[in-house]
Amino acid sequence: IFTKDFKSKVADKGWKEGEPVPYAALVATFEQIEATTKRLEILNILTQFLLVVAKRDTDPGGTNLLKTVYLCINRLCPDYEGLELGIGEMILMKAIAESTGRNVKQIKEDLKKEGDLGKVAMASRNNQKTLFKPKPLTVTTVFQRLTNIAKTSGNQSQAKKVGFINQLLSACQGNEAKFIIRSLEGKLRIGLAERSLVVALAHAIVLKDNEGKKLSPEAMSQKLDEGAEIVKAVYSELPTYDIIVPALMKGGVHHLRENCKLTPGVPLKPMLAKPTKAITEVLDRFEGKMFTCEYKYDGERAQVHLLEDGTIAVFSRNSENMSAKYPDMVEQIPRCIKEGVKSFVLDAEAVAYDVQEKKLLPFQELSRRKRKDVKAEDITVRVHLFAFDLLYLNGESLLQKELRERREILKEHFNPVESEFGFAKASDSSSTEEISAFLDESIKDGCEGLMVKMLTTDSSTYEPSRRSMNWLKLKKDYLEGVGDSLDLVVVGAYYGKGKRTNWYGAYLLACYDPDSENFQTICKIGTGFSEEQLKAQYEELHPLEMSKPRGDIEVGGAKPDVWFEPKIVWEVLTADLSLSPVYTAAHGLIESRGISLRFPRFIRQRDDKDADDATTAEQVAEFYQRQATAGNKKGGGNAED
Ligand code: ATP
Repeated sequence: IFTKDFKSKVADKGWKEGEPVPYAALVATFEQIEATTKRLEILNILTQFLLVVAKRDTDPGGTNLLKTVYLCINRLCPDYEGLELGIGEMILMKAIAESTGRNVKQIKEDLKKEGDLGKVAMASRNNQKTLFKPKPLTVTTVFQRLTNIAKTSGNQSQAKKVGFINQLLSACQGNEAKFIIRSLEGKLRIGLAERSLVVALAHAIVLKDNEGKKLSPEAMSQKLDEGAEIVKAVYSELPTYDIIVPALMKGGVHHLRENCKLTPGVPLKPMLAKPTKAITEVLDRFEGKMFTCEYKYDGERAQVHLLEDGTIAVFSRNSENMSAKYPDMVEQIPRCIKEGVKSFVLDAEAVAYDVQEKKLLPFQELSRRKRKDVKAEDITVRVHLFAFDLLYLNGESLLQKELRERREILKEHFNPVESEFGFAKASDSSSTEEISAFLDESIKDGCEGLMVKMLTTDSSTYEPSRRSMNWLKLKKDYLEGVGDSLDLVVVGAYYGKGKRTNWYGAYLLACYDPDSENFQTICKIGTGFSEEQLKAQYEELHPLEMSKPRGDIEVGGAKPDVWFEPKIVWEVLTADLSLSPVYTAAHGLIESRGISLRFPRFIRQRDDKDADDATTAEQVAEFYQRQATAGNKKGGGNAED
């Protein structure tokens, strides 16, 4: 299956079975991926490369393949272990300067011209006269050194990091420095989405395991499709390559389901809901089916795990371990477990609670908590857990069971505890009047609205990581607008005028396109901020300033005064959406033009979302299409003033 180009540039890099993977081979693969935007071509290139790596990897645990996989998605470990790259521009510039004998000022100037620090590093490195050719880098060494850099903390950590990066850059040849720098920045920006990697990994293993067998193209194609489905499904239940890659190397795709199952301690990606604008829309969707309406609590999603050894862990929507933020919840949990429960995974919402008044408090009360090392004396607001699903119990995954059954098992094995633990309040009634009354009741009790869920049939299984039509959200406040708020990334800012000159006065926001891994600009937002908010925003965003828009921002006609590393996510409300000559959001999905938000209003910062969890281009297009009034669709967008 190798193309000629691939063979000469990658596969024949002089690396034999049992030998470590040369980093140069990975970089050559990255270059080929970067040169195309076609998803099938990207998949093919990556499959070929992973196949070669897998075939030449003689380690029974597939270490070489595992590290290659991690470097392809620029991660060092599973999400929940929390070790991340993302080194600031200044540290990187210092390291490039030191390792290439130039000064930071020159590097800065080059960056202004070039716009990509990776390319600046590569050019600086290649212009350098060196007496000895450095020893070629391998995937394993690069992985190890990146891990060391990410782990460096404490005293003098900046200087230590510069030292380590300097060392790594000095060993780079050809265009390796470009990708080392991009890895350190936190993103490769070659348009390689993680879902393509999962499929490529599956295809590579299927091809390896069927080599030499005389299969018809149809039979092979079926095997590839089946393999991809299996690996995707397993990964959404057990999102860790640390277990999946060795299992694939040992038993191929067909034994993967037996060997890799939902496991307490490894958070799975939560099931998500689709927005709706009206009760009638809910009824249309669920017509003739059994469904349930639950209170939509306004808190923070909490996936609570009890491991066989008695450990209790709480994970956020993003798979971050939050046990240190909620020591009180960890302490409360044992009181709600009935006898005989040895392990579980619970899906729930953690809500701020007023114990005296016995009422729910707004989410903001909890968001003020530190994220780590919370001590008993720091806790001013109590947390109440509302469980709405049970995904695993005593060694058995419940994902494939109907919601009605999961809910029964949940209630059989857990006890409500006053002011600490309860089940999400639910009503299984199905007339418009009853749903409307339940929606009003939920608001009166301090919730955001309702979650409406399929209760029986195959459509009511738990679908990890999917935004499913089998879960609908009905948010009272947003029924008037587009049905939901949007979570957008702050990618730029405009300086303020008058009294606001010390801070930014307005911001440029973007949505995320997971296919291209790019951020697409969507609107300028500048009204409704208090002085206090503007000041706090400046303090948080100023360190993220970049000299040029990063390569993964599709700028369009936006012209902010400063650009940011895409990191901070804000929840924003809009009156409606319109086509725009200026912004790039969802371009190509509805029309060649992008879409923009009209009259955007800031609601809150979403610390529980990363930039790549932002509202997607596809969701923006869906919001636009669902707008009731045709008149809104013709607008010219909120062009930059
Ligand atoms: P999304 O998760 O859809 O991207 P989001 O994180 O902004 O968006 P919402 O749009 O507010 O979340 O809706 C889904 C969230 O509602 C869940 O992730 C969960 O935290 C919360 N939630 C509250 N009550 C329930 C419930 N009964 N069932 C499911 N989720 C609930």
